[in-house]
Amino acid sequence: MRSLIFAANWKMHVGPPEAREYLRAFFAAGEIPHERGVWFFPPAVSLETVAQGIAGHRNVHAGAQDIYWEAKGAFTGATSGPLAKQAGARLTLIGHSERRHVFGETDEQTGKKVTAALAADLQPVLCVGETLAQREAGDTMTVVTRQLEAALGERDGRARVAIAYEPVWAIGTGRNATPQDAAEVHRAIRRWLKGHPTTATPFVILYGGSVNLKNAAELLAEPELDGVLVGGASLDPRGWAQLVRTAVA
Ligand code: PEP
Repeated sequence: MRSLIFAANWKMHVGPPEAREYLRAFFAAGEIPHERGVWFFPPAVSLETVAQGIAGHRNVHAGAQDIYWEAKGAFTGATSGPLAKQAGARLTLIGHSERRHVFGETDEQTGKKVTAALAADLQPVLCVGETLAQREAGDTMTVVTRQLEAALGERDGRARVAIAYEPVWAIGTGRNATPQDAAEVHRAIRRWLKGHPTTATPFVILYGGSVNLKNAAELLAEPELDGVLVGGASLDPRGWAQLVRTAVA
């Protein structure tokens, strides 16, 4: 059976007591099938609680939703890679569309964050994706390639990275990409990664954007998808436990 990753982005939800309760309900659904990996991205305040709550579950990991590129210092409100690592993170999202479009994060900043993540021994999960206007203008691959190039093009060595292809128009909108549309972009990302001397195999390429219990099986039946990154539908522990067990043809 093919290995699949199910990544949960809790965004600005689920504080520490709620995270404890969430994990209790999630694990009450039973052992996770061993060819499935589960990654939780809680808000920074809940990272340590989640890391403690998943301890002993081999295929479950915790990650930060974002890091700052400096390792320490006078940067009020920011979380560095080493601090996220201390709290138990193994991974970090970088360049999530809400960071880019709500907080104004630039391509150059995502590059600095990838470097900082690797220096802190965190696996970066780089999020890329086009807006609706860019898709309609036929610029999807130009945008995604620019984002890949900016974040990964200049790195030293061969970095183990995961990519989340998340079209901006599909995030939190209830409108998902079709499996065929997602696959086309995934293939192009895979070609870029293979041809690029700064990235190491194997690659994990996730699709994100309004994935839920209704559409997960159809999306995951597309072999180009190595898994999914899910926001809204990951907030209910029982629904998420079901999603992680989605039967894939
Ligand atoms: C996300 O937060 O990365 C995401 C894909 O959100 P949603 O599943 O709610 O569209």
